[in-house]
Amino acid sequence: MDGLLGGQTAVVTGAASGIGRAIAHRFAEEGANIVVADVREDPRENGSTTHERVNKETDAQAVFAQCDVSDPADVEGTVEMAVDEFGSLDVMVNNAGIVGPNGPVTDIDPEAYQRLLNINLNGAFFGSQAAARQMRENGGGSIVNISSIAGIQGYSNLSPYCTSKGGIRLLTYSLAAELGADGIRVNVIHPGVIETAMTTDDVPIVGTESGEQMRELIPLGRFGAPDDIAKTALYLASDLASYVTGESVIVDGGMVNTA
Ligand code: NAD
Repeated sequence: MDGLLGGQTAVVTGAASGIGRAIAHRFAEEGANIVVADVREDPRENGSTTHERVNKETDAQAVFAQCDVSDPADVEGTVEMAVDEFGSLDVMVNNAGIVGPNGPVTDIDPEAYQRLLNINLNGAFFGSQAAARQMRENGGGSIVNISSIAGIQGYSNLSPYCTSKGGIRLLTYSLAAELGADGIRVNVIHPGVIETAMTTDDVPIVGTESGEQMRELIPLGRFGAPDDIAKTALYLASDLASYVTGESVIVDGGMVNTA
């Protein structure tokens, strides 16, 4: 199959909704077969499931894997599914994430904090681990981790999320150092404010007064769309980024570096 990822296989975690859904679709348009790995099948923003949409709208194939990324056995099983269904694993996108608990550090519930770390940070670790084992056998591959601008800057009342996203950044750098010799590239994307259920429902920014003030600080004058992240993920996943590893790419309309 033609395309930047023609004939390849990608696992995208958290791909039922939002950014992961856009990545799955964009990769499929470029020829990759997709394993949609998520705890839920239906998108948070409604519409048909990601795998149905990919199968209907592209020439690639997609399957759904019920997967909680905080469970290493689930993640391992998802990678096995990719190999069983499509014959290999070439690209792993560790995208699944949640945003809360938020608030003053003195008020954060330890269990909720641990749950967030288990999903956001440990999920990316287990995903990278399972992918690296398989990609080593394949002779290489590309791992793309989804952090946040909250993995670069500290934000008040967001310490659990920042902790998890900063961890993903350093996880990426250490794995790039370790896995380069196996032909495995590892990179990280730091999205700014992207319009998904996370920013309309979980932490309402889009459509709020304070969000509007934030938007005015963005040089490109708008919040991001999920496909803005998907296009960057496509670059990092594909051979266009053949000499890029251990890199972090901020995709935020220019907000952080001009603040
Ligand atoms: P979203 O809530 O729209 O989608 C997240 C998806 O992850 C959902 O389908 C959800 O079911 C899935 N998920 C949650 N927990 C999971 C688990 N334990 N195992 C497997 N899947 C799980 O959110 P989004 O905005 O698309 O966020 C995607 C990623 O991008 C997250 O890591 C998020 O932190 C990051 N991010 C988002 C923004 C933004 O502004 N939206 C900004 C920076 C970073």
